[in-house]
Amino acid sequence: MDDRISKDARIRSLVAAALEGRLTDSGAGELAALDRNLIKLAFLAAARRIAELQGKVALAGPDHPSTPSGQKPPYVKPPAPKRKGKVGAKVGHAGSRRPAPRQIDRREEHRLEACPDCGGELQRCKRKRTRTVEDILKDLKTEVTEHTIHRDYCPSCKKHVEPTVPDALPNATIGNNLVAMTGWLHYGIGVTIAQVRELVGIHLHTGLSAGGLVSAWHRLGELLAPWHEQIAQAARASAVLNADETGWRVNGKTHWLWCFASKDACYYMIDHSRGRDVLDKFFLEAFDGVLVHDFWAAYNHVLAQDHQCCLAHLLRELEKVDLTNQSPAWKAFAKKLRRLIRDGIRLRKRADFDPARYGELIRRIDRRLMELARGDHGDADASRLAKRLLKYCDSIFTFLDHPLVPYDNNHGERMIRPAVIIRKNSQSNRSDKGAATQAILMSIYRTLKLRGQDPLAIVASALKTRLAIGHLPTLPIQSVADG
Ligand SMILES: [Zn+2]
Repeated sequence: MDDRISKDARIRSLVAAALEGRLTDSGAGELAALDRNLIKLAFLAAARRIAELQGKVALAGPDHPSTPSGQKPPYVKPPAPKRKGKVGAKVGHAGSRRPAPRQIDRREEHRLEACPDCGGELQRCKRKRTRTVEDILKDLKTEVTEHTIHRDYCPSCKKHVEPTVPDALPNATIGNNLVAMTGWLHYGIGVTIAQVRELVGIHLHTGLSAGGLVSAWHRLGELLAPWHEQIAQAARASAVLNADETGWRVNGKTHWLWCFASKDACYYMIDHSRGRDVLDKFFLEAFDGVLVHDFWAAYNHVLAQDHQCCLAHLLRELEKVDLTNQSPAWKAFAKKLRRLIRDGIRLRKRADFDPARYGELIRRIDRRLMELARGDHGDADASRLAKRLLKYCDSIFTFLDHPLVPYDNNHGERMIRPAVIIRKNSQSNRSDKGAATQAILMSIYRTLKLRGQDPLAIVASALKTRLAIGHLPTLPIQSVADG
């Protein structure tokens, strides 16, 4: 699991290579080995590349005024100019909805057996409408389906009723598999919208607009919101929880992306605050577990069974001070603190470690900590850190009392890093709605990965169930295969 994040980075570079036509046999093999879904990307990219070489690719559209630009990979293009004003056509202008696809592969009829509201018998009418949905199948073939939807009349409800088409979100022209796959590429791995369109769009008869994708993801986020809440509940119920936060921007304003991660749940929230109010919003009540975090003061206000501060942070701080402070007083303090931390970690790493067995040694380490924290060290840096040790004295060696607790916040930092990469790729969110979708979908894709589940299949089938019967299945738990 340690290398999951570097995996994602590797995936992004392989995707870029594939789009550029530089994907080698071993690269394709690597994609397949990293994730069974990724071989699909290699095929998509390869097919795209072949079409490009045959000169068939023309990503025609308003943002591609000349075809050659469509043949360039996005990273060699200059960044798109910032769009000013409102998104979409001006009032009074005709919409630029893409034309209906020419070719129909499959036709499907939808007719209700009985009234969905009262269960009563329906009077058959001749009213009907058609709707075309394009989707990508398991074998990566695209399929255009024309759905004929019959509208019948319910005499007791005195209204016309029609069945739901569970294969696609309301008003969407792309099907559930495509929504799940593109959402995973963007929110799960951090592939940019332009790259998603290059990878997937070229295989569709109908093209794939950026606006269409984003609005489909917003609807996906809305429908899957109950899963976001289930992830929060799982995180709050965990015995050990890592927390971290990083800067974010929503509509040009500074926000914070918060991450709460246990071993099988990863919950993100985006908020304008970096303060304890966000933690109150998340925890709702006292946390019956150990919270692992850095020395950011807000975390200390959480009512938890115990806290563990990140000792890697503390050691990094010592290194930072080393660069500017060579005084003997500082050196003596830093040496003592390093030795204390090292002794604590060594004790924990003993093969037969058990808090009860080593109670005496643990108490000795606690005493050394208090001596350092209360001592007079005759150096400003040393005094500042001693003060910190005193403030957090109960949160330094918690990992010696609870063998499941780590002594660093690596897990929290690992879980927040993909978001940092996505922020660099996508410049955070343009609206509160975008931020909400981001938090929901990132949480779901990352939690499914933590649980060893196939995010594409799970999300696509959940979407279908939700559209067919009106409620979501429960978010899957840890897969047995993944242990
Ligand atoms: Zn009825």
